[in-house]
Amino acid sequence: RKPSSLPFVGERFHARTVRVKAPGKVNVSLSVGPLRPDGYHSVASVYLAVSLYEEVAATSTEAEGITVSISPDSTLDLDGVDIPLDERNLAYKAAAIMAEMSEKPTGVHLEITKRVPVSGGMGGGSADAAATLLACDALWNSGLSREELAHLAAELGADVPFSLLGGTAVGLGVGDKLSPALAKAQTDWVLVFADYGLSTPDVFRTLDGLRDSEGVEIPEPVDVDPTILQALRNGDPETLSRVLINDLQRASITLAPQLRDTIGLGEARGALAGMVSGSGPTIALLARDSVAASVLADELTHRGHTALAVHGPVPGARIISDTLL
Ligand code: ATP
Repeated sequence: RKPSSLPFVGERFHARTVRVKAPGKVNVSLSVGPLRPDGYHSVASVYLAVSLYEEVAATSTEAEGITVSISPDSTLDLDGVDIPLDERNLAYKAAAIMAEMSEKPTGVHLEITKRVPVSGGMGGGSADAAATLLACDALWNSGLSREELAHLAAELGADVPFSLLGGTAVGLGVGDKLSPALAKAQTDWVLVFADYGLSTPDVFRTLDGLRDSEGVEIPEPVDVDPTILQALRNGDPETLSRVLINDLQRASITLAPQLRDTIGLGEARGALAGMVSGSGPTIALLARDSVAASVLADELTHRGHTALAVHGPVPGARIISDTLL
């Protein structure tokens, strides 16, 4: 049946479910400036959306309010992982913002299928927020433009606008200046997941501490290396492998020294280069092509790691179904 915009047909409430998927990201480059007096860091980063998706199913409910659950279809082992299901959840926050912006919001239940590792440095929570914005926008006919949605996304967190946008993009400032980069050629990666998370603020604090003890002046990052964008445009993994950079990597490795071994193993087993993804602890290994990526992922899996071949860029948040129940 075709979904109607009204939850009530006659007297009867008709629940509607809008299902959206949104990608996780790797930072192909991430330069971090000094700690600013306002407590933030300026960054310059190339974001790449990869083929590992969060899914949010938003179902309208007759009862008011927002509820959140994690779907049993999640492929992650979520035992012992702390994901708040109340107003601290990023998907909850996204629905609350959308309800404020919509004329006639209903109640909503959000079921999140988690595939992006939690506190993994791949922006999983941000993907949930982006997916929820789009789902509630459809559910409540908010009539917001893609640009207005992007503004709301930025209020929710630095990585949320990128998950909405997808593809390849350059992020500057405190993650508030995002411009799409027309780099559509595919690159292939193997993600190696850790069975623990790293807190992003802890990783930044550790980097500040390391830099303080070295007493070196850190410049404000103003732009990204054009070679990176060129290599992404040309689909040239060899060149790309020589210019990958992540200023947070040494801080993540300080907190979790075993990450160095994972990068070393990946590179010894055929990856062109390996790096910490964002604040870690997920490792992103760049492969020559998709066949090399799946061979490497199999080999690492065989050795007891949790590894997955992915590619990028992929599109940002998209509706995958919209049904009246
Ligand atoms: P980033 O790279 O953007 O810093 P991340 O991928 O490292 O993010 P997330 O998994 O997005 O980390 O979020 C980590 C923290 O946010 C956890 O402490 C978790 O409790 C909290 N959180 C809030 N909402 C969510 C959500 N929907 N999914 C996962 N974590 C969430």
